[in-house]
Amino acid sequence: MTAYEGPTDLFINGAWRAGADGRRFPVLDPATGKLLASFAAAALEDCEAAVDAAGDAFPSWSATPPRERSELLRRVFELMTAEAETLAAIIVAENGKAWPDAIVEAKYSAEFFRWFAEEAVRIPGEYRGSPSGDKRIVVTHQSIGVSLLITPWNFPAAMAARKIAPALAAGCTVVLKPASETPLTAAFIVELLNRARVPAGVVNLVTPKPVGPAVESMLADARVRKLSFTGSTEVGRQLLASSARRVVSTSMELGGNAPLVVLPGADLDVAIAGTVDAKMRNGGSACTAANRIYVHASLHEEFLARLTDRFLAFTLGPGSTRSNTLGALVSQRERDKVAELVETAVGEGATIVLGGADESSGCFYPATILKGVAHGSTINSTEIFGPVAAIVRYDDVEDALLMANDSEFGLSAYVFGPEGDAVRFAFRLQSGMVGVNRGVISDPAAPFGGVKQSGLGREGGFEGILEFLETQYLSLPA
Ligand code: NAP
Repeated sequence: MTAYEGPTDLFINGAWRAGADGRRFPVLDPATGKLLASFAAAALEDCEAAVDAAGDAFPSWSATPPRERSELLRRVFELMTAEAETLAAIIVAENGKAWPDAIVEAKYSAEFFRWFAEEAVRIPGEYRGSPSGDKRIVVTHQSIGVSLLITPWNFPAAMAARKIAPALAAGCTVVLKPASETPLTAAFIVELLNRARVPAGVVNLVTPKPVGPAVESMLADARVRKLSFTGSTEVGRQLLASSARRVVSTSMELGGNAPLVVLPGADLDVAIAGTVDAKMRNGGSACTAANRIYVHASLHEEFLARLTDRFLAFTLGPGSTRSNTLGALVSQRERDKVAELVETAVGEGATIVLGGADESSGCFYPATILKGVAHGSTINSTEIFGPVAAIVRYDDVEDALLMANDSEFGLSAYVFGPEGDAVRFAFRLQSGMVGVNRGVISDPAAPFGGVKQSGLGREGGFEGILEFLETQYLSLPA
């Protein structure tokens, strides 16, 4: 990307402005280490102003006809689609991912605005009679209120779109808090909403420093009725505790530790293609990334050989060179975490088949395959968040099921095998989402979310809008 020229300020009540105390923080390009921009840091009073603006805008936005809300979202879809290359370039610049991942994310993000433009006019209601015949039951849905949206750096556009679009469709006003590593993508999306003529106060953007006290104070504000968070399970737990104080409604999209199981008799063409997708999409920095790959002994050697061929084809380098297929990790810290996990895995008995730290520099880490990984070892039980395939060989399918379910997480899982076997196996997995002979599961039309400590609630699908609505029941005379 040539020099970044988009907004670098907070967006409050329909206007871009610097933080109240003038502080700024650096946004770096992880591929080069160079400064991309200095972004405004929000002070506590800026966050309060954002909640004021969202609170003031809520009555009229929630009363705006669904068709008008829908048309605004549709305009954002069209603008974002037209600007997909610009959006992708910003994602590449501040997140470091490869161009093919970034352009897919930009288009995927736009699709959330299209999907929820369509959902805005289909908010469900229901009528039923009571079993005793003494009343009529009418079920309606109302906009929940001011919503605080907190997003991570790994899909800086898609995670913001997956929250803003359903919130606005449901008639909620929002305060968006993007990750510190990737505020430029969020600012560009807000700019598109602004261009699409979102009314003042309906969407606000803050980047508080320090984050903890600012989020606490927003959660303590009686006008904030919803927290939608995507990020680590550790921070999610803290925010659940904070939300409990005022019983704020929460949606939590947290960490994963996805198992990928290759059953006996699997078609290896399908299994290899699916594994490459499930492991390497977004350079492995995905909550849905296959983290634990269990391969049946009968296929193990051929699987390893063929996966190695496919991994060798990845070209590591900056996303600004569009032909590169594996970009940088978001920061030196994330890159070092991946390197350390691989070293620990080797110390615990795994063997490096391909890659490892030596070939990389800066925030880059090469496509890596480990074999002989033990179930329950450190790398097997930690979210890797990088381009490392950690392979466990197994003999017995029932053991594979036990191992797959042996995790505190349950976001996504993958199974490859003869279709009947794979579907039967999938039904027994403790996972919010399962790819059956497929390595990509995300779709704006599907409910995204996890079980166990991977989260609460669902985003996308018909379910996504319900997270921003309260159910009201009217009891009417029979
Ligand atoms: P993170 O450290 O939890 O940060 C996520 C967001 O929370 C950032 O905006 C961060 O702000 C903010 N935050 C951090 N500490 C906070 C606090 N004390 N109070 C309030 N907000 C706070 O996660 P991450 O490293 O950015 O993202 C990676 C994680 O997200 C992985 O675990 C991944 O699995 C998960 N994830 C889950 C999904 C899903 O849908 N389930 C999707 C994508 C990612 P600052 O950046 O300013 O610190």
